[in-house]
Amino acid sequence: MFEQELLEIDRRHLRRHLHILESEPGPTVTIDGHAVILMASNNYLGLATHPKLKEAAVEATERYGVGSGASRLISGTLRPHVELESELARFKETEGALLFGCGYMANLALLPALIKPGGLILADRLCHASLIDGCRLSGADLRVFSHGNLEQLQDLLVRRAAHRKTLIVTEGIFSMDGDAAPLPGLVDLARRYDAELLVDDAHGTGVMGTHGRGTLEYFEIEDRVPFQMGTLGKAFGTSGAYVVGPSSLIHYLLNTARSFLFTTAPPPASAAAAVAALEVLRSEPERRTRLWSNREYLHSGLRGLGFSMPPTVSPILPVIIGEPAKASTMASLLWNHHVYAPAIRPPTVPKGGSRIRVTVTSEHTREQLDRVLEAFREAGKKLELI
Ligand code: PMP
Repeated sequence: MFEQELLEIDRRHLRRHLHILESEPGPTVTIDGHAVILMASNNYLGLATHPKLKEAAVEATERYGVGSGASRLISGTLRPHVELESELARFKETEGALLFGCGYMANLALLPALIKPGGLILADRLCHASLIDGCRLSGADLRVFSHGNLEQLQDLLVRRAAHRKTLIVTEGIFSMDGDAAPLPGLVDLARRYDAELLVDDAHGTGVMGTHGRGTLEYFEIEDRVPFQMGTLGKAFGTSGAYVVGPSSLIHYLLNTARSFLFTTAPPPASAAAAVAALEVLRSEPERRTRLWSNREYLHSGLRGLGFSMPPTVSPILPVIIGEPAKASTMASLLWNHHVYAPAIRPPTVPKGGSRIRVTVTSEHTREQLDRVLEAFREAGKKLELI
């Protein structure tokens, strides 16, 4: 029954496979027995392997055990969970924070809390699958506007029925393009047309802004957006996700969000490691300095080679290839040069937008980045992309 569908996926060059890492996640790794430079991790600040995070995880495991044993509202709320929530609220300067098992679950919780059937959601076309699934789950009508297009969004706001409850949905930093949403313009439109704005800052958290508070800090508009979500599995190096905002929203989610209520609480080790991550963000700003310097070096190197790249402002550096088959060949050529940067193909990205999604971290050395650029040069020439 499934064979036919799998053959069809093969025919369209869209078959996916798991790659097994036998080592820590970067910057060099052993994947399927092959030593490569990893250019595909969201561990932007190298915190997944930071000694302080490991120590916090081990200590929490020794003290509380490996699993939390129940959902948060039954008996699964352990000290590290609440400590993390209070530290996140302090970090984001909000009244409260709520921890979720992952970003996917946070979005499945948040969308139905913010808007109900009869309401209208206006979402950027490139929003992450978890946002779209959350939108669907809410039962509200969903319209998309083309990526970052404020004029089109305004048009949709003007044409909707008067007083219709409306929610604008966007990512802060877009996960496959690395560009920032036009957040100041989105905030203005939301204010002017009495809509609410949800920002998923999965990729901005820890990375963007002077203190790593995210994309709203980068645009200096934190005081204009009352709530947001972000994840802990990327720059924070652990796992889980948070919603931060006013106490009323936090308590409403705690009482009603099904992906909070009906799931086992995250392991204490990951919550304790995230508390340590917050401390490292404060005490080691040099990690962000190194990240931005590596990012500039690789970005200008790739552009200098002549690759086509969208206007990214983050450590996500997409190299646009076009057709999925060609993107897969490019990834294989890079792999032969001991560089792992995977091809991203539809449906993750729009048709014709297949790409190599490169991510750079604070922990890559210049020598590694030079080897990556050399691999791109060789592979790009072979495929006549440059
Ligand atoms: N939102 C965005 C924008 C993401 O990129 C991701 C992860 N790829 C998620 C949400 C989901 O987060 P998690 O991996 O914690 O489920």
